[in-house]
Formats: sequence, structure tokens, C-alpha cells
Amino acid sequence: NVTAQTASIEFKDVSFKYINGKPIFNNLSFSIPPGKKIGIVGGSGSGKSTMVRLLFRFFEPQSGQISIAGQNIKDLDLTSLRRAIAIVPQDCVLFHDTIFHNLHYGDLSRPHQDVYTASKMAELHNSVVTWPKGYETQVGERGLKLSGGEKQRVAIARAILKDSPIIVFDEATSSLDSITESAILQALKAATVGRTSICIAHRLSTVADADEILVLENGGITDRGTHADL
Ligand code: ATP
Ligand code: MG
Repeated sequence: NVTAQTASIEFKDVSFKYINGKPIFNNLSFSIPPGKKIGIVGGSGSGKSTMVRLLFRFFEPQSGQISIAGQNIKDLDLTSLRRAIAIVPQDCVLFHDTIFHNLHYGDLSRPHQDVYTASKMAELHNSVVTWPKGYETQVGERGLKLSGGEKQRVAIARAILKDSPIIVFDEATSSLDSITESAILQALKAATVGRTSICIAHRLSTVADADEILVLENGGITDRGTHADL
């Protein structure tokens, strides 16, 4: 069982390429101690989201190993692995339903109050209450009525509700205005407290508070250190 106290993450000599694709990682290695935050920056196509897919076992590396809490993720059952990790994806999938149900996710045992608390922590609540129907607003097909920044805050609220020992944030590519960006940063800070976290960002400043930052380029890490080092 992976807990906040044990949730280290290690990539050891991981090499990966998609079928018929160019190599994405060549012997990629890094580790994150339990409760620490790592920032990942790198150009579009450098493999940042691929790293998340490998961690969640959507794909398997051709060589090397990925461990969580010292256990190779290949040896964990998929349910426990995915229960241990909350992913805030670049592109959050929403249901054609109310914003409340999109956050609540149909877990009948979950107190409704938790949804509002998570929504506040994710800096979403203040936007939702300005909408005429508030939490009863239909988000429309695939979240059509929400902005990119709002959708990403929905995903952060869901990750807060999941309460897993590990959280992975994959920053949306859509350009955000500075108010939205600072709301997301604030939300992210609340969501990562006490968890092992991987924050993928487009700019170094977004991950300034990370314990370590990795710069990804051309199949590997080209630079690493704290924000002050880089
Ligand atoms: P961005 O900043 O734009 O989100 P990224 O660093 O997250 O970029 P990835 O999505 O990890 O990049 O993709 C890395 C490379 O792998 C890209 O060249 C992409 O085209 C390719 N790629 C991604 N998914 C697949 C797939 N399923 N099959 C083949 N190639 C893929
Ligand atoms: Mg990506």
C-alpha cells in the first residue's frame, strides 16, 4: 500500500519510444523522495506527458524501471497503482452534466461538503458562484462552456478530492491570462501539500517552489537543479 510517507518515485535508466516513433527517453533517471515536489520543463514534444503515461502504465518502457514506494510499478496491480496517483491532465475530460456532478464523480458516499471545500481550494468556487445556476450549471458537451483555465481547475479539484499520496500536474498548453495563471498556481500549491508531486510546466517560474527542476530535451535531462540554480 502506497502512503504519503512511502510514496517515493524513481525512474531508473528508462528508455522509451512509441511504436514507429523516434526515441523519447534514453536512459532517463531521476528520483523524488516522499512528499517532495519535482518540476519538469521542456519544449513541446520533449516527452513530458509521455512521462505521465508511463507512470500510470498506459505504456511500458522498452528498458529500465519505474518504481513507486520502492516497488516496480509492473508488480503493482493496476488498481492500486492508479489509486495512488491523481493526474491533472493537460486536457481534462468533462461529462455532459452539471459542474457539481463533474466534481463529485458519482461517489455516493462522498459528503457534498467535500466538493465545495475542494472547489474552494482549487480556486474554482468563486467563479462557479458567479454563474446564474452555480453548481447546477450544465458544462455542455465535453465542457464546452468552460475556459481552459476553468477546466484545469476542475481537474485540480478532482485531484484534491481523490486524496492520493501522489499528484501529477500537466499544465494546459492553452495560453492563460495572468489572473487565471496565478489562480491555478495557488490551486496547485493547495493540492500538492503533503503529497509527492510532479509538476509539468511551460515556464520555469511556474515551478519555482519545486525541490528540484528537471529540464527535458532530446531524450533526456539536459539540466537540473533548484530554481535558483537554473
Ligand atoms: P507538450 O508540451 O506539447 O504537451 P510533451 O512534452 O508533453 O509536449 P508528449 O506528448 O510526451 O510531449 O509527446 C512526445 C513525442 O511523442 C511527440 O513527438 C509526440 O508527437 C509523440 N507522441 C505522443 N503520443 C504518441 C503516440 N501515442 N504515438 C506516437 N507518438 C506519440
Ligand atoms: Mg504534454
